[in-house]
Amino acid sequence: GGEDFRGNHQFKDHMSGESEAVSEFAMEKSIKEQREYLPVFAVRQKLLSVIRENQVTIVVGETGSGKTTQLTQYLYEEGFTKSGMIGCTQPRRVAAMSVAKRVADEMGIEVGQECGYAIRFEDCTSENTVIKYMTDGILLRECLGDGDLDQYSAIIMDEAHERSLNTDVLFGLLRDVVGRRSDLKLIVTSATMDAEKFSLFFGGSTPCFTIPGRTFPVEIMHAKTAAEDYVDAAVKQAITIHLGGSDGDMLIFMPGQEDIEVTCALIKDKLSGLDEAPPLAVLPIYSQLPSDLQAKIFQRAPGGMRKVIVATNIAETSLTLDGILFVIDPGYCKLKVYNPRIGMDALQIFPVSQASANQRSGRAGRTGPGICYRLYTERQYKDEMLRATVPEIQRTNLANVVLLLKSLAVDDLLSFHFMDAPPQENMLNSMFQLWTLKALDNIGRLTDVGRKMVEFPLDPTLSKMVITAVDMGCSDEVLTIVSMLSVPAIFFRPKGREDEADARKEKFQVPESDHLTLLNVYLQWRTHKYSAKWCADNYVHAKAMKKVREVRAQLKEIMAEQKMAITSCGTEWDVVRQCICSSYFHNAARLKGIGEYVNVRTGIPCFLHPTSALFGMGFMPDYVCYHELIMTAKEYMQNVTAVDAVWLAEQGPMFYSVKETRGSAIAKRLESVRTLDEMESEMKMAQKEMKKVKAE
Ligand code: ADP
Ligand code: MG
Repeated sequence: GGEDFRGNHQFKDHMSGESEAVSEFAMEKSIKEQREYLPVFAVRQKLLSVIRENQVTIVVGETGSGKTTQLTQYLYEEGFTKSGMIGCTQPRRVAAMSVAKRVADEMGIEVGQECGYAIRFEDCTSENTVIKYMTDGILLRECLGDGDLDQYSAIIMDEAHERSLNTDVLFGLLRDVVGRRSDLKLIVTSATMDAEKFSLFFGGSTPCFTIPGRTFPVEIMHAKTAAEDYVDAAVKQAITIHLGGSDGDMLIFMPGQEDIEVTCALIKDKLSGLDEAPPLAVLPIYSQLPSDLQAKIFQRAPGGMRKVIVATNIAETSLTLDGILFVIDPGYCKLKVYNPRIGMDALQIFPVSQASANQRSGRAGRTGPGICYRLYTERQYKDEMLRATVPEIQRTNLANVVLLLKSLAVDDLLSFHFMDAPPQENMLNSMFQLWTLKALDNIGRLTDVGRKMVEFPLDPTLSKMVITAVDMGCSDEVLTIVSMLSVPAIFFRPKGREDEADARKEKFQVPESDHLTLLNVYLQWRTHKYSAKWCADNYVHAKAMKKVREVRAQLKEIMAEQKMAITSCGTEWDVVRQCICSSYFHNAARLKGIGEYVNVRTGIPCFLHPTSALFGMGFMPDYVCYHELIMTAKEYMQNVTAVDAVWLAEQGPMFYSVKETRGSAIAKRLESVRTLDEMESEMKMAQKEMKKVKAE
């Protein structure tokens, strides 16, 4: 620990005598013994009788008490599944998958049989499934087809304290479902103690059942001065702990994948430079990590060596890790926040809340007394951190939610029963966006286009693009592009072979469009019979491409159900660009300098990323549309396509009201400041209109 931290320094000596709990855990226990050791097992009967007597029950218990893995099994064992499935929602995909696998193990079956999971684009259930773990987004979509959720006998809304956007919307919907279906059991679980709010939401008389915890004391050490570089500081602390002699695994929190990768690399690097250092298993965990690597964090490291797990806030409460005695908390997390400047959601790094900080430190005391090193000062904790994280519904774009609620015939969104209502401004902005996409009509009703859009598990922009493509005769191509965009990384650049990887990538590049470049990769892969070897040879992720193909097949199925034609435009790729332009017109930008653009609507600067296909093409197109902005050193546009000024003028009449049809006149008009002002005022007027409509 040492000189950089304040805290009880005698604690370490005291700890070495207290390792009983740890060694007890380190012993191999049978699965039955493990289940019976969990705190929830001690109150199994009591809890079940509360659930039997009440329609809605709030269950509060510390992380690791067995809420997620045991509640579903208890209900199953008690015969609740005779009248329907038991559904358990998770805010995170990784948690849904990993917990379903664990429960399948505990039940001695293959995942996908009696116990399965469903996440977007991946359904691992069968007709035998009676316990279904899923993301909250999946259950929300199921409400569309089955408003009363008749397939289920019980729903467990897990991790409710997270207050994810979808969970919050589910709260409002399930409150009504419970009113209509007296046979449905609803269980809401939370890892934090302030569950009264949930109880009040369901009418006050809803019982809160607390699972008595079994936790050990955690010593909290605050930094004397704030760390300048939290990655360096965390690495240094991890090495100090590792060389310090006492046993126990470590957990380091980092805001995102990039920081996690750097942290892991630095720890390995530092240790390899030390001759006498004992071995250490360095294990990352974040949502995009392949699932076989994710599973490693739960396994014993070879030879019983110490583990250090470097995680996003998925390890805060969603996944329970045993054996952690040291937590290193830099005090940051990534949150999705609507950024009015760029007009869309962006992932940004924020200080965590006090509630999160306390959850994080708690992770050190699950299996024995532990220590949490906070890389921030006590004053920062007290004065600069919010008490609790702002619920997602109050900080993100709501276009998807609005679309969904509208199609569930919740017409008056401003009076929907939210636990915490989103700011009206956010709601109206989202409605405005949907109106510009023609998903809502002038008085805020769902249009036919909007109804079709809801069918796709995609962001409104992308579902609109698919629908437009049908009319334009390029749905085959657009389907591929949308599928490629739904998967994170297509290309890889191994260390030491960057030049070769870049050269291969360049061969795929379609000069005027990153979207078409993605299309090109897929088409070539298809020509090569979807070969994995072809992927490896071309520095393309084979797993990602396999996923793209699955996503594409699923979207294609939805199109078939909707009787939407799949047609190819052959080599007429200009049509595809036109189609892209038609849904991305709110993300249109005009050339201002070399590699520098400004958003036509907001005027904010945005830049071509050096990895874009347009970067090396020798000239910069006057107008482009982009998929999204990522904010790193600059605001970089990601996935960019060159577009024609005329298309913009045609496609976005709300933004670019252009009477003339001749290209040059339009271009001139688009460039003039006056037009920018006009567009602004038109938007404002339209927004006022919408407000008026809502008020009536
Ligand atoms: P809670 O939901 O109350 O936080 P869980 O039900 O997730 O608790 O975890 C209970 C126990 O199940 C954990 O302490 C851990 O021992 C075990 N466990 C959970 N998930 C896994 C997993 N993926 N692999 C191995 N063990 C697990
Ligand atoms: Mg849990």
